[in-house]
Amino acid sequence: MANPVFHPDYKPAPYWWEAWKPADEQRTEVPAETRVAIIGGGYAGLATALELAKLGVECVVLEATAPGEGASSRNGGGVSGGVNIGKSITGSTLDSNSPRAAALLSDGSDAFGVIEALIESEGIECHWRRSGRFVGAWTPKHYDSQAKKIDRLNESAQSGAYMLPRERLREEMASDFYYGGMVVERSGQLHPALYVKGLLDRVRARGVPVCGYAPAGRITGEPGAWRIETGRGELPAPGPAAP
Ligand SMILES: Cc1cc2nc3c(=O)[nH]c(=O)nc-3n(C[C@H](O)[C@H](O)[C@H](O)COP(=O)(O)OP(=O)(O)OC[C@H]3O[C@@H](n4cnc5c(N)ncnc54)[C@H](O)[C@@H]3O)c2cc1C
Repeated sequence: MANPVFHPDYKPAPYWWEAWKPADEQRTEVPAETRVAIIGGGYAGLATALELAKLGVECVVLEATAPGEGASSRNGGGVSGGVNIGKSITGSTLDSNSPRAAALLSDGSDAFGVIEALIESEGIECHWRRSGRFVGAWTPKHYDSQAKKIDRLNESAQSGAYMLPRERLREEMASDFYYGGMVVERSGQLHPALYVKGLLDRVRARGVPVCGYAPAGRITGEPGAWRIETGRGELPAPGPAAP
């Protein structure tokens, strides 16, 4: 009998993989040497590789599974520009009026611009759109805590955020379930798997080796070189010596 917890349409694989499924048929060889070894072939590693390649710095991406198979092809695709800064698993939140929060929000705001410019300049087709976002308030207390953040969001991250009281909820959604919420205009949406595929294609097109199934293991340093065990041979990366 099918497990009643799951909807009949439930599939265990990420929905996004229907458009692009991470795989590594190429099994790019781990080179004999590199200047910079980047560990991890998700957004962070591939975006780093792209920037280094643009600057003409030799680099290699080492990925333990298939490039893009980590969180970067499994997430919600929401690009917030800072709205989620301060959230935590424990429920404790960063003091939104602290100088640290302002600095983090400012960086988040910059990141929104960077990602938008990158998608455009590299011509990455990933369903990018400035959709805006609505964050529903679960309780009146939650609504009040959102309202306290609005000024900081708009000052530090230029979020274009405003509160929507409960009686206006249907301007944003076909439900009366929430206690109002927060609208954030400077917020976007993309297809996460197509975005990581786009980064991977651009990195490979610039000649950077992206080596799947090459997990970085022990990293050692000796005068003039780092050495990285990769699971597919050792990779020397000449540079500053380990302390
Ligand atoms: C369910 C979910 C929903 C999310 N929703 C959103 C969202 O809506 N908006 C948003 O902005 N963010 C969201 N995130 C967060 C976002 O997905 C991550 O912040 C982002 O993908 C991190 O990119 P990354 O390159 O650091 O990590 P990853 O994409 O996970 O890449 C890290 C890679 O490193 C590899 N690796 C690990 N160890 C080694 C090793 N020793 N050697 C070689 N390779 C190694 C892993 O295999 C992996 O492929 C969500 C995350 C999850 C899980």
